[in-house]
Parts: sequence; C-alpha cells; structure tokens
Amino acid sequence: MSFTPPSDPRKPKVVKVTQLCELCHARKALIKRPKNLQKICKLCFFHVFETEIHNTIVSNKLFERGEKVAVGASGGKDSTVLAYILKLLNERHDYGINIVLLSIDEGIVGYRDDSLATVKRNQIQYDLPLEIVSYRDLYNWTMDEIVACAGIRNSCTYCGVFRRQALDRGAAKLGIKHVITGHNADDMAETVLMNILRGDVARLEKSTAIITQSSGSPIKRSKPFKYAYQKEIVLYAHYKKLDYFSTECTYAPEAFRGTARELMKNLEAVRPSCILDIIHSGENLRLKPKRLKRAPPPSHVEVRSDGSVSIQRLNGFVDGNRCDRCGYLSSNKICKACMLLEGLEKNRAKVSLEKDTSVEGAARLTRTLEKLAF
Ligand code: SF4
Ligand SMILES: [Zn+2]
Ligand SMILES: [Zn+2]
Repeated sequence: MSFTPPSDPRKPKVVKVTQLCELCHARKALIKRPKNLQKICKLCFFHVFETEIHNTIVSNKLFERGEKVAVGASGGKDSTVLAYILKLLNERHDYGINIVLLSIDEGIVGYRDDSLATVKRNQIQYDLPLEIVSYRDLYNWTMDEIVACAGIRNSCTYCGVFRRQALDRGAAKLGIKHVITGHNADDMAETVLMNILRGDVARLEKSTAIITQSSGSPIKRSKPFKYAYQKEIVLYAHYKKLDYFSTECTYAPEAFRGTARELMKNLEAVRPSCILDIIHSGENLRLKPKRLKRAPPPSHVEVRSDGSVSIQRLNGFVDGNRCDRCGYLSSNKICKACMLLEGLEKNRAKVSLEKDTSVEGAARLTRTLEKLAF
C-alpha cells in the first residue's frame, strides 16, 4: 500500500496554467461551455451567459420602456432561469419593464401541483406578482380528466391548444400584451428538425421567429432564450442555486418530438454547434414570396372580465375573427379549444352513461382531432 502524505494547508494551491479560465486567465476553469467547449470559471460563465441573453434582447428590440410583460412560469428550469435573469437584466440595464409571473394550472396531480408550489416560492424569492390561470376554471376540465376520457396519446395536443389560449386569457386579464416564454435553442432546433422531417413548410417558416403574434391578436410572444443551450440553462440554475422543479410531466411528451430530440442529442455529441447551426439554417431558408393576408392593426382592444378580447378595427369591422362560442380569436367560426371541448363533452356524457371508456367515444375524439389543422 502506498502512503499519500496530507497536503500542507499553509502552502498556496498552484493552479496549472491549463486549468485557468480561458476568458479571465485568473481563476480556475470549472465549466466546459456546452456551446463552444470553452473552459471557463463560474463568474465568467455567469457573465457571458447573461450578456448573451441581454444581446439577444437588445438586438431584437424585444422590450419597450414601460411595457408590462408576463413570464410564462412553470416552475421548471427554463422559466425559473428566465424570470431570474430578466429581473436581473431589467435592473442592470434599466429596460424599464414590469415583470409578472403567469402560470397555467393544467390540473395534473403529482406534477403541476408540485411545480406550482415552486413558482409560489419563486414569487417570494424574486418579489414578483403571480397570476395562476387554471384549465378547471377556463374549460371545466383538468388534464387528468381529459386523459382519463380521451387517452394519453393525444394529451399534449389538447394541452398545447388549451395552454396557448389560457396564457393569452391570463395575460389579457392582467392587461398585458407581451408574454415571454422559456423556449430555448434546443427546443427551437427540435422544432425546425420536426418541420423538415414532416415537410411542414408553412410551420418551418415561422419556427425560428423570436417574436410571434397571431394575426389580429393583441398579445405577442417572445423567446429571449432562443440562442441559449438547454445544458447552459441547467448549469446556470445549478451554480446560481435557483429553486426549480425538475420532474417531467406524468404524460409522455409528443412521440415525434422525442424522436427529433434524440436525433439532436446524437448530432450535438459529435458537433456541439449543430443546435445553433440548425436554427441559423431555419432562419436563412427563404421560401417563395407569397401574398400575406394581414389584418389591419386593431384600433381598439377591449378586455372583458372573463379574459376574452374584443377588437374594433379602423374600417368599422367590429369583433372580427372571434370564436362564436368563447370569444377567443380564431380564424374559424369555432376555435380549436372549443372544438376539442365539444368532443370531450360528448365523450364525458357517454362515459357517464356507460360508466366505461368507450372505444366509440375515443374514435370520435380522434376524428375531432383529425379535423383540426395544426
Ligand atoms: S408534456 Fe404534454 S400533457 Fe404534460 S404539460 Fe407538457 S404539453 Fe401538457
Ligand atoms: Zn474567468
Ligand atoms: Zn372558442
């Protein structure tokens, strides 16, 4: 057995030059940046990460002074880091924005209830107002009930349609016209890949936009983490000791997205820059110009107490493009959420009559889903 003498605590530790941070050359390198494999210290990592987000915000003119913005907060790592960093940058660079946390309670026991507890702690930690909008209040359904009724296969389709509307309604209730989400570079590259693999040209064109706004909608969405790697967000949350919730949703994520994610991970292992490369490819794809049917800008926007929005246009066209049932903006007579709800209600009635999960009811729901053009 060999004997290793204890090191002398009075002797200063000598850091090998190769271990020094490649940016400041003063502190020990602790992190290998997933984005470019640069070896840097913790403080330099915080600085470059925050500066890159700030540059994305400034170069894309994401905010206006005096603007009220809602951070879509789920309690997960992305939205927790987003809320933290936005508050920090707002103070550091004086953006002059008011930040509010906006959470959606989909009604998933064992997942969302725990993650909402994290958001409530974040609200106190970051001293930001919080608004929670629930599927139960808006649609009289929870995701648990939807899955029990319609099966797990389409859970994310239902959830996605309902969440988009819920976020808009929550924002409208708060008088907010800008919702920020924690979608990161990995999410965006996955979406680009999925659209390429599906040949969905129309979506491919929109999938790399940092700001999106549906025609006629008063609410815009933006993604300040568009160029931020998921691994770096996790590292930032870890080294900053942020309080976030890391459990995955009980219901499996979209199978096809899972496949695209796997493909991305394999590509990233051999070429770390491929996430950004895929985003840049998506940004630079130029499709044949087509005539855009743009609605004229709304002259007056009224937000009702239930969160629905009324738009009066300059040409006298009042309340255009609204769902006949719920008043939400929709390009069809009935919005996607109401179509899904109709299918669910029929199935609920049938289930309560037969007291079983009928195959026929599930087939009807599948037909309702197929009718929708996502
Ligand atoms: S994984 Fe699917 S069901 Fe779960 S929260 Fe996300 S979209 Fe909703
Ligand atoms: Zn350094
Ligand atoms: Zn509707």
